Amino acid sequence: MNLEHARRLFRIVSSFSLPVLAGLWLMTRSGSYEAWAYPILAIYMVGVVATLAWTSITVKRVFSVSHAVVSVFWLGLLASRLFAGPESALVAERVTPDVYLIFVLISIVAYLIFSTPRALKASVALLLVTTVVVGVRFASAVQNEGPVVAVAHIWLYEAILGITILMLHALARSKDRAAAALLEAARLHDLAYTDVLTSLPNRRELEESLEHTAAASNELEQPLSVVFFDLDDFKSVNDVHGHAVGDDVLTEVGDVLRTLMRSKDTFGRWGGEEYLVVAPGTRHEQALEFAERLRLGVEAHVFVHGIHVTASFGVATSEGKADARALLSRADERLYRAKHAGRNRVVGGNGAPMDRASTLQPDASER
Ligand code: GH3
Ligand code: MG
Ligand code: MG
Repeated sequence: MNLEHARRLFRIVSSFSLPVLAGLWLMTRSGSYEAWAYPILAIYMVGVVATLAWTSITVKRVFSVSHAVVSVFWLGLLASRLFAGPESALVAERVTPDVYLIFVLISIVAYLIFSTPRALKASVALLLVTTVVVGVRFASAVQNEGPVVAVAHIWLYEAILGITILMLHALARSKDRAAAALLEAARLHDLAYTDVLTSLPNRRELEESLEHTAAASNELEQPLSVVFFDLDDFKSVNDVHGHAVGDDVLTEVGDVLRTLMRSKDTFGRWGGEEYLVVAPGTRHEQALEFAERLRLGVEAHVFVHGIHVTASFGVATSEGKADARALLSRADERLYRAKHAGRNRVVGGNGAPMDRASTLQPDASER
């Protein structure tokens, strides 16, 4: 439930409780606890509705204050029935079950709206206060030869309240543990699938993504392209500027090219100074153009310390049955050819650098 929903819900509940309180109040005996406590509660509710409507108070704050107000109200009711109500009602057991039912509800609500430790504190405080109130009444019944058995009966409700709080707490703890385990699993997944240096998807993620995308492309009968590239003469960047600057350049390549990717592409660091793009739904000509844009992007960028770098690209596409491994090894082999042809170029299915690629007509389903 988002905060806006919680706000609206709380406003509706508060508004509804007003006529209910008015109805209950009409049924109260004059001079009883309820006769003056219900109007106070009603005024509080009006205050809540107004505060929620006209101020930016957080729902959390309203929840916690209201929890305290409602708890105090029902504790007062318990005390008034035990100490000021007719003993006949006590003996007939018409006094406490309803109040304890409300205490159970208050504890459930505490576990729904508060953190587990805070809910425990609020619920245990409620249990302690009721224990003291009942204890005092019990002592006075024993001393004054009052309705000892009837008051002793209330310990049963106390026990039920205590057990309910224990069970709620155990449930909340196991819910917290499950949530923490999910968070930890997500964190470990991120660690295992993200490259530490560039924060791009790492080789593991790329391999899995390529497998999945190949399967999906086969299913949808769509082409699948991969663009494999390697920075040129990167060793000299390290030699001249140092390994740390080399690291910065590797990260910057990721940052610069990330902006050129389409949402359906997976772009990651394969390892060292090699990167891979998995481009589903992309025909070979489109992939070549895309790789050329990436090549120009690297070439045109001025990296830290005014460094210029270039990259060589191998592009492969499967337009029939996609085989992730075969696709990758074709792109790798073309990248190798781009290096041998003089670097800073794109090589595709025709085996020639980009400027001649478009002149060759494809005749096979795999390029
Ligand atoms: P080529 O054009 O043939 O690819 O030349 P190259 O120098 O880029 O290739 P080579 O395979 O000879 O060297 C790769 C260099 O990339 C050497 C290595 O130290 C550097 N390198 C690989 N991984 C990292 C890294 O994580 N950080 C840094 N700073 N350098 C790296
Ligand atoms: Mg290299
Ligand atoms: Mg390399």
